Amino acid sequence: MQQIDSSDIEKKDLKFPFITISVVFIIIISFYLLWRPLNPERTIYIPLTPQVQTTVIENHQLPSAVGNATIVRLDDRVSQEQEPEESLDQPKPEDDVIKDEIDEVIDQDDNSVQYTVNRGDTLSGILTQYGVNRNDVYLLTKQFKQLTNLRIGQQISWTVDTEHNLKSFNWIISNNNIRIYEKVNDNFVERIETREGIWKPFNAQGLIDSNFVVDAKKQGLTSSEIATITKALQWQLDFRRLKKGDKFSVLISREMFGDNHENSQLLAVRIQNGNKDYYAILAEDGHYYDKNGGSLSQNFLRYPLAKQARISSGFNPRRLNPVTKKVTPHNGVDFAVSRGTPVLSVGEGEVMIAKYSGSAGNFIAIRHGRQYTTKYMHLDKILVKAGQKIKKGDKIGLSGNTGRSTGPHLHFELYIDGKPVNPITANLPVSEGLTGKSKKTFLEQFKKIEPKLSFESLTPSN
Ligand SMILES: [Zn+2]
Repeated sequence: MQQIDSSDIEKKDLKFPFITISVVFIIIISFYLLWRPLNPERTIYIPLTPQVQTTVIENHQLPSAVGNATIVRLDDRVSQEQEPEESLDQPKPEDDVIKDEIDEVIDQDDNSVQYTVNRGDTLSGILTQYGVNRNDVYLLTKQFKQLTNLRIGQQISWTVDTEHNLKSFNWIISNNNIRIYEKVNDNFVERIETREGIWKPFNAQGLIDSNFVVDAKKQGLTSSEIATITKALQWQLDFRRLKKGDKFSVLISREMFGDNHENSQLLAVRIQNGNKDYYAILAEDGHYYDKNGGSLSQNFLRYPLAKQARISSGFNPRRLNPVTKKVTPHNGVDFAVSRGTPVLSVGEGEVMIAKYSGSAGNFIAIRHGRQYTTKYMHLDKILVKAGQKIKKGDKIGLSGNTGRSTGPHLHFELYIDGKPVNPITANLPVSEGLTGKSKKTFLEQFKKIEPKLSFESLTPSN
């Protein structure tokens, strides 16, 4: 009996520390797993108070190398410390926003981007918001100091390879003065192109018979001219809703080489939908306004959230997976928000997709105007339906941890002309009309061109 008792005691003695150690171990592990995503050292805080927002945006727009150097370090740190089993933000391929005829004209499927310089823009700010390789941006701006002199309203364009390395950059200083920068080996080479065509006005008028794209082409307009028109009036008019018998009148300046033309600039367009007239008139700042100099644009929210949020993973289309060494683009921004946080639409628009989709989990895609699309992933709940019209700031869902996600967060993407851009630094549309001297000049110019936008040739006088 005694022997049995002693062995029982021995067993108990052994059992007790074993269970305790296991429990403590499990607690430590769970604590580590729960705590890890909240560790501030891995992440950057972007407070949502308006004052700080401005500071952050201004930082990105600093032309100096110093401003960029800081940003590079932060981004690198985020990407290096990312887990290999990092959350995936890919909806199923069939759940992409379906392109219609107008998208086909607007979206550039090649790796080129066209851009109009806005107030406050710097070259490095513009290129990095599109995820262009920062080393190339640094090299280009270091080699050619004149690129700090971009003017408001000027057109620039660039092409990148599949890894977002800059291949070439075009700067249209004026219609007859174009600078082209091409990457040759490890340097950029500048070429100056002086155009010799003659700029002539082109006036086209037509009636809608089938749809705007087809009918505008019948009147001799090119795809890129049609794209400019649909972009200029994207917030006013849904071009798909134009009806048979609606009218359009377009005034364009084209560079003519004999009978051929390559380059053109849309000066003015008027579209009559039923009894309503829509105008888009080019101003000196390179943007289009209504005939009174009023804005044609819509404001956006910078963040799809009402409260402060931490960015746990930044925008990085060149992100390298530390284990596989493969590029696994992060085309959006992750906000570390707890499950159930209201998610807001950043702008007015139409819900294109609202469903569970593969690694993206509960997923919403919204189209804003013609040029902008936003995507929201890993939601706990979807509160909208496909086809629904929504306003800026509308609650569309609750954030969560669905799909392939390693913790509660909101993955948010912004696309301009079908290309992913950094939502934190992107140039969002601003609804500001012309004022003062620029408005006066604009109204004087409009008076001169207004007669050319009449529909006289379409409706014989009665
Ligand atoms: Zn993400």
